[in-house]
Amino acid sequence: MDIPSLTIESVRGGLLARRFSAVELADEALRFAQAENPRTNAYLHFSPERALEGARRVDDRLARGEDPGPLAGVPVAVKDVIVTKGVRTTCGSRLLERYIPPYDATAVERLEAAGGIILGKTNCDEFAMGSSTENSAFGPVRNPVAPDRVPGGSSGGSAAAVAQGTAVLALGSDTGGSIRQPASFCGVVGVTPTYGRVSRYGLTAFASSLDHIGPFARSVADAATLLGVIAGRDSRDATSAAAPVPDYRAAIDGRVKGLKLGLPREYLRDLASETGALITRGVEQLRELGCEVRDISLPATDYAIATYYIIATAEASSNLARYDGVRYTSRSGDSETLADLYRNTRGEGFGAECKRRIMLGTYVLSHGYYDAYYLKAQKVRALIARDFEHAFREVDAVIAPVSPFPAFKLGEKVDDPLSMYLSDIYTITGSLAGIPSMSVPCGTTAAGLPVGMQILTRHFGEPVMFRLAGALEQQTS
Ligand code: GLN
Repeated sequence: MDIPSLTIESVRGGLLARRFSAVELADEALRFAQAENPRTNAYLHFSPERALEGARRVDDRLARGEDPGPLAGVPVAVKDVIVTKGVRTTCGSRLLERYIPPYDATAVERLEAAGGIILGKTNCDEFAMGSSTENSAFGPVRNPVAPDRVPGGSSGGSAAAVAQGTAVLALGSDTGGSIRQPASFCGVVGVTPTYGRVSRYGLTAFASSLDHIGPFARSVADAATLLGVIAGRDSRDATSAAAPVPDYRAAIDGRVKGLKLGLPREYLRDLASETGALITRGVEQLRELGCEVRDISLPATDYAIATYYIIATAEASSNLARYDGVRYTSRSGDSETLADLYRNTRGEGFGAECKRRIMLGTYVLSHGYYDAYYLKAQKVRALIARDFEHAFREVDAVIAPVSPFPAFKLGEKVDDPLSMYLSDIYTITGSLAGIPSMSVPCGTTAAGLPVGMQILTRHFGEPVMFRLAGALEQQTS
């Protein structure tokens, strides 16, 4: 069994032809992931009991002649901000180092019901705040493609696991770029669905109006299949959408002729040369397949970073208030008063980036600043969403870079939060608008670093996005 080259289809084929059982595969995949992990630190912990139990269920279904499900036997890694019943879920934070959730996230439940096998939980920036996975309390992740570089973040562990080949699929979460940017840095496919397409039930809240769960995979087809499994209305998340879930996999049919693509001039003007050249080449390939390409403008783009870091920190400051040393968390030992207990628990438990955001968020929500910052940011958010609405009257998809630069060196930006925040300059706009977007590999730099192209479409336009991504994948592979 060559674990790193497995796909959903090859696992299914192997199981149906009885070349291996689901238990044998899970066993082998776990052994391989554990052996490889010291190279990247992609996984924080493994869940062998749960994986083998899931694999036994798949084998039982096969033995009874039943359909084992669309993800039967497929090894999956899950970002450690997504809760798993009985399996430690730390959110990359000291505060939750010993937290064992009493329930499963809906996405986890659905992927296991489809036969998926959860190998373990992946490393990430603390509470998903970051762009390099260096904000994890449990050490950074190394990019499998270039071990002296970051895998991107905050879902760096999930991207690295898929790129390294220890998992066929992974779940990540994206608030402002945390799926697309690490997918781009590690050379895999990463999808941020329409806001509300996948239930957030069981996703630890960072900025609730921006948080998404989405897939990582090594191919567009596998990402589409995973999204189909986890998408759909969930009565436990009031923001989850009731819209029917189309067959995303079937949308990848190569028919891109006549699709109109918009290139936003605000995104392409200061792009580093190598990234820019690869995106331009990708656009040319789509043009040769019959797409029409137009220049468009998204004028509110310049305000995106400022808007995001007001709204996201405001929501984070409120969401993180629950970690008080009484519920969920480790408690600081020697506190005399309740106020001391809060102060000590939070002071010792949160890392620097979380503290920075709690302070910023509390500030922008406080009396006297609310109108000047928070309310203003909400208005600009509406303008950013309107830019996309206008664009989608003219074009079927917007094509953009994912990040201004490829994977940077470990340590290069940790002491400069503002330059770190710029990593997400092209992904944040789509997040603020709530539209679907994805990163699909479009080549590597001369130094061998992967670069992803971002495809954004209108709300619930995932089928068009997958069709374009599939066509580009054909050209570049
Ligand atoms: N890098 C951005 C941030 O630090 C996005 C993170 C995310 O999408 N979770 O907030």
